Order: sequence, then C-alpha cells, then structure tokens
Amino acid sequence: MPEPSRKRPRTSDEDVPPVVQLPSGATKKDDEFWFDDGNLIIVAQDVEFRIYKGPLVKHSPVFRDMLTLPQPADASDLSCAVVHISEHPISFKHLLREFMTGNACRLPDDKPAFEAVSAIVRLGHKYELDSIVKKGLTCLEDIYPNEFRRWTRSLRVSGEIFAAVSQPSPRCISVVNIARLTDTPSLLRPALVECCELDPKELMAGYRREDGVVEQLSADDLARVLLARAELIRLDALAALRIFQGVSTRCKDPAGCARTFRDALWNLTKPGAKTTFGPMGRRRWSEYVGGLRDDYVFCTVCRHGIYSQESEERQNIWELLPSILDIPEMPTLGLFD
Ligand SMILES: [Zn+2]
Repeated sequence: MPEPSRKRPRTSDEDVPPVVQLPSGATKKDDEFWFDDGNLIIVAQDVEFRIYKGPLVKHSPVFRDMLTLPQPADASDLSCAVVHISEHPISFKHLLREFMTGNACRLPDDKPAFEAVSAIVRLGHKYELDSIVKKGLTCLEDIYPNEFRRWTRSLRVSGEIFAAVSQPSPRCISVVNIARLTDTPSLLRPALVECCELDPKELMAGYRREDGVVEQLSADDLARVLLARAELIRLDALAALRIFQGVSTRCKDPAGCARTFRDALWNLTKPGAKTTFGPMGRRRWSEYVGGLRDDYVFCTVCRHGIYSQESEERQNIWELLPSILDIPEMPTLGLFD
C-alpha cells in the first residue's frame, strides 16, 4: 500500500557510513567523474568518484548529514573527505551524471535510458534529491501514462526519451516498485496492467536490473496482478462476444458479414488457435480480423463497427482498472499538472 508521503524519513545515524581512509589498491578511479581538484571522494563498492562536496551538501540533506559528521583524527590530514556507500557504481554514476550534467535520462539506447531513469529515482529518493526524483518520475510517466489515449499510443510509438517496447517487458515490475517507493499512484495503473500482460512465469522471475539486482513485486502486488489478470481475460472474452455479435444495421452484405462474424468467433474455439482471450494490452481484435489477412472479409461498415466497438470496449476496461486492480481512483492528468 502506498506510504503517506513521498518524502522519506530522514536517514538514521546507523545509515550514515563513517568517513574512512581509502584502502589502497582495492578500488579504481571512475574515468568520467574524477576531478583532480575535487574535495570529496565517494567510493561506491570498487569505484571512486572524486567530485565537489558543496553542491551535494547544498542539495541533499542526506549527504549534508553524512559529510558534516566529525572527522576521525586520522582523516584530518587527507586532502579531501572519503565516504563509502553501498550503491552499485553503475547506478550511482547515473545519479551523478544527472546531478552534475542534467542529462542522464537522454541516452540514445532504450535499456540504459530506462535503467538511468530508474536509478536516479531510486537513489534520488534515498538521498533526498527531490528535483531529480521529480524529473525521473516525469520521464517514467511519459512511457507509462495514466491517460487512455496516451497509454494506447505509448504501446506502439517511440518516445523522444526512450522507446516504448512492442512487447510487455518485466521492467514494469520495477516501475510498480518505484511507484510504491515514491508514493506515485499515477504510475500504478499503466505499470500494473503491463504486469498483467506478462507471462506468469516471467512475472514470478522478476526484473533483473543492470546492477544485477532482481526486483520482484511485493506479495500484495503479485496477488493484485494475478487476480486482475484473470478478471481482464474474462472481460476480454465478453468484449470479443460483443465486438463480433453481428452485422451492422447499415451492413452492405448482411449474409456475407454474418457468416464472417460467425467464423471469426468460431475459429477462436479451435484447438491450436493462435489468437485467444487475454488481459488488456497490445493484441487487438480489429487486427485479428484485419490487416493483410483475407480470412475475414467484412463490408466497410462492419469493419468500421469493429474498430469503434473495440475502442469503446478498451476504454471501458481502462476505466474499470482502478477497481479491478484495487488501486486509488485518480484524475488522469499528468503527475505534476
Ligand atoms: Zn457488413
């Protein structure tokens, strides 16, 4: 269930790593974020970043607490402070790149860009870098929009920031977890409905991030998705019955179209049928009977009727999703509109 506030509690003392002397030979310098005149070395596992303390202290309350602790006596002669953090260096580098250059989200390739956005939101939340969290969540909302028409487009159209995937991707598991972490309910509907599209085995296997961590849905969200998946398949079957219920009143070939509607439905019941009922997502009934296939020939009026009825059915199911998924109803405006 969502937490009451996007702000996390301030880091407790035991979370603040001590300032320690750098062990020699155990780490390597990062090639991008190493400034010889930097006054802070952050060691993320085996990678050292030498940067400037001031901006971090100014913008991150967590780093402010961490870096204003009394220095150990044996560290007083170091030219700059050294702190060790538990973050994976790839993830922390995404955060640093966003913090220092503001363009971590705009990598050209799809996967790293998603990974970058995911990392800056998770770590931005941890270190209380609120503007970075807000920017990352806005990027995520571009690909997981909480508005029907934008969501429909997002399934097929490449965005400027990163491409939408043509198939459901288990990265939606990570998006659900980010929505929970940051209390961003607008991400829940599009991310959870994509989870419903995943093969259950894929859903159970989770999403492996580039830092090697495998993310799973919480037990609550997993149950929510499995229950919703069954309901969405039922609703899809009912929608198909309505879409293929019969010829339009203005049909140009009532006998031919009636026969084709019957065939389209009947073929769904045949063993080995490629198309079957499923949770709401990328498969369209209008494509099942349309496109280049000539198995199903409808008059133009009935063909148009199929498109419009399907569009209506999809929108109706979309509007039911908060109830089906047991998530908060909310306006379909953007995150920060
Ligand atoms: Zn017709």
